[in-house]
Amino acid sequence: MTTTTTVLSMADKYRLTGNLISELDDAIELMKSLFVDEDLEKRIKECESLLAETQSLILQMKEEYKTTWLLGDSDDSYRICSECDEVMSQGYCIDGGTDYYCTDYCLHKNHTPEEYKEMHCDGEGDSYWTEWGE
Ligand SMILES: [Zn+2]
Repeated sequence: MTTTTTVLSMADKYRLTGNLISELDDAIELMKSLFVDEDLEKRIKECESLLAETQSLILQMKEEYKTTWLLGDSDDSYRICSECDEVMSQGYCIDGGTDYYCTDYCLHKNHTPEEYKEMHCDGEGDSYWTEWGE
């Protein structure tokens, strides 16, 4: 038997933990829709508490990743959004790294589309959209 280990970047780990939390929410909703038998209600309750514990564990991992990164440990696969503090593996780099924005929404809270167009300068400027750690 062979085991393949995939090395995940810091940004991947952060993204995966976020996805897992919402997947688990979906899973419990699905179970509720399937288990209508009263005998199974106890089972659902057990699953719910197990999922809640799993989610809080994952959430803790997610926060720990972020804390580690904020302390300066970085594999250069992410940036932190200057507007909403979200961890991002792709987004806007402004003025060569003065600010970073994860979405158009965060970008436009700080720069109008016209301003950005001018800063981007058809790819000649120091402001652009990019992916890190690729
Ligand atoms: Zn943002």
